[in-house]
Amino acid sequence: MPANYQAELVGVFGQPVAENPTGVMQEAGFAAAGLNWRYLNFEVSAEKLGAAMQAMEALGMRGINLTIPHKVAVIEHLDDLSPEARAIGAVNTVRLDNGRKIGENTDGKGFLRGVRADAGMDPDGKRVVLLGAGGAARAIGTELVLAGASDLLVVNRSAKRGETMVSDLLAATGGRVRFKQWEGTYPVPETCDLFVNATSIGLYPDVDAMPAVDLSGAPDGMLVADVVFNPPETRLLAAARKRGLPTLDGLSMLVYQGVIAFEMWTGQSPDEAAMKSALRAALAEG
Ligand code: NDP
Repeated sequence: MPANYQAELVGVFGQPVAENPTGVMQEAGFAAAGLNWRYLNFEVSAEKLGAAMQAMEALGMRGINLTIPHKVAVIEHLDDLSPEARAIGAVNTVRLDNGRKIGENTDGKGFLRGVRADAGMDPDGKRVVLLGAGGAARAIGTELVLAGASDLLVVNRSAKRGETMVSDLLAATGGRVRFKQWEGTYPVPETCDLFVNATSIGLYPDVDAMPAVDLSGAPDGMLVADVVFNPPETRLLAAARKRGLPTLDGLSMLVYQGVIAFEMWTGQSPDEAAMKSALRAALAEG
């Protein structure tokens, strides 16, 4: 068989991207699958996004991730959106379908896969309290309602942002979704099965910050999940563990959103353990 030195290329467009560890995990997955693929971080300014999307096509790239500030702006450069990305209103992954650029959002799907695989919980029929109304919260909230969560209470500091998210979710999914403004310390109710921090509180370097919530009234067995992955053990998760509650860290979501992008790009199932350990090692070094 003749040698083939041509690698396939995927990557991420964002600004900044230097500290984005996704490539380490994807390349571990490619290596484990014996695929000659590369994942590169491209620093792309807002003004250059259109040119970068054309370059993606010109270079024959197999797909791309989008991060801040491109998750919404990229939509005008795409041929179509998945129903979930349309409902969320943001795209973090582009895949190709017969040359057409399709916008997907794997953040909420990654979160859900982690809830099922790592925490052993089926979101169907569950009552959820979701802290936050930013990009991560919109992705998670949309997928939870689509997966059958029976009640979603969005708790956010900014009423405008929270109310907009809830009305968008109601229009897109028709599920039971409510909003409560977050003022002072939020008492987690005993009618909650899954509590999610989807804010950036606790993210490095503010590792001592903790969402102002009171877990004392939470029911035994309530799952506490955090989207913050750096550090994986946030103060919220430490407090939940101390209270005897099961927890799910942000690394789980990060790994599975990457696993799902891998599947979309290559059509193969990756070695999830290889991806997870590469990511853990990279974050421990960083
Ligand atoms: P956004 O900027 O879109 O949203 C931030 C949210 O956090 C808003 O709801 C904001 O409230 C809230 N918030 C921030 N600071 C405070 C504070 N001091 N008090 C109360 N509320 C606060 O960010 P994203 O949604 O994109 O990202 C949120 C987090 O999710 C980040 O830490 C990010 O790293 C993480 N993430 C993790 C992923 C993973 O795979 N694990 C994937 C994607 C994101 P308000 O509206 O009032 O400003």
